[in-house]
Amino acid sequence: MSGKILREVENEVTEVLSNLIRINTTNPPGNESEAARYVGEILEEEGFKCEYFESTPGRGSVITRIKGVNRSPSLLLLSHLDVVPANPKEWSVDPFSGIVKDGFVWGRGAVDMKSMTAMEIMVMKLLKRNKVKPKGDIILAATADEEKGGRMGAGWLVQNHLEKVKADYVINEGGGLAIPIDGKNVYTIQTAEKGILWFKIKAEGTPGHGSIPTAADNAILRMGKILEKIGRYRSKITIVPTVKQFLEELAKESELARQALSVLIRKPGMADYILDKVAERDKVMAEEIRATLRMTVAPTIVHGGVKENVIPSECEAVFDCRILPGQKPSEALEELKNVLKEDVDLKKLEFEVIEANEPSESPTNTSLYKQIVSTIKEFEPTCAVAPILLTGGTDSRYFRKVGSVCYGFQPMKADLPYGEILKMVHGIDERISIENLVFGTSVLYNIVENFMCSSET
Ligand SMILES: [Zn+2]
Repeated sequence: MSGKILREVENEVTEVLSNLIRINTTNPPGNESEAARYVGEILEEEGFKCEYFESTPGRGSVITRIKGVNRSPSLLLLSHLDVVPANPKEWSVDPFSGIVKDGFVWGRGAVDMKSMTAMEIMVMKLLKRNKVKPKGDIILAATADEEKGGRMGAGWLVQNHLEKVKADYVINEGGGLAIPIDGKNVYTIQTAEKGILWFKIKAEGTPGHGSIPTAADNAILRMGKILEKIGRYRSKITIVPTVKQFLEELAKESELARQALSVLIRKPGMADYILDKVAERDKVMAEEIRATLRMTVAPTIVHGGVKENVIPSECEAVFDCRILPGQKPSEALEELKNVLKEDVDLKKLEFEVIEANEPSESPTNTSLYKQIVSTIKEFEPTCAVAPILLTGGTDSRYFRKVGSVCYGFQPMKADLPYGEILKMVHGIDERISIENLVFGTSVLYNIVENFMCSSET
């Protein structure tokens, strides 16, 4: 059945997605338990036994499994049940109606990522219907809280019930959307993600009257120096394995990219110069690539002052720093302190870490990676496949930390303009075509069946 579109799942997977969208799991507050119970009920109809977990009341996750004949390899199909807020006034349909219109299912979560939950449920049901006997366990987990960092969902499960979710391999969100390049689809597999370091700097000074500025030591001016210094800072270029492979694959697909990217890979020191040139033609692509080559830092909040004529004694700013696999949040903070110390007296500054998450990366030389590539090529022989580093984060980091190999792969054709699909994730009029639901289910099913049962097929 390789490469065969499973048309027969169309109504079922569409209905499951519509129903999931109708259960409002906007995070905050989340309230994922109702959605977890719904997922459990439709799996139980198929004969699955499900387990429910709540990190706190209302914050539910659901887990089920098909027992394997042996112990390995085991595979976890992961998704999150919560969604980001949607303002109905901005949408052209009710974002929680799950309406089917013009061949699309509309609503918050249609892409990120209730569609993947629906596909993974469908895959589990099909495995059962087809009486598949996998080598290791196949687990499904639909969890709470990803959009606020996952500590009440996947992170909590890994910490408190690791035996329920531990698997050799994990398939999750973060990749799978085809990027059309020169008429060819490049499917991405998320193999790495950056870590987060959110921190605050409080600059201190000596207060005074606004009419005699030189008598005071203005904290706002001190912060100005800090913002200028950090805002312009470009950390060292480091090409991690995922990014190297991504650039190599991209270079194969586009004549335009080929020359620039191959130089970039050979001479990372020239990366900024090359990307400045690329930006003249394609700013979005150039800046997306640039952000994958180094630790980045951006000021995002500034507070200072209370009154028109008062020079304040302190000024605060918050920074969003993203670090590469292999880097540590504490090292990034030290690096930035070093940058500042030439121009600003560090004794006048207070640093506070607001949030720190480790980056993570999985290798591409695994049997599951190979399986994903060969399966997607059975469905679309002309396509290319490339691993990607996400500059944002997913729940995969919790599982990579405990040794699972994680891939973000939610297979989708770009049947709307690529930029529009990216915009509607966390944006307005989020929707997925029924074609893509059926395509994604078919591809995922083939990956799972072939990977988990290769001896029988
Ligand atoms: Zn998501």
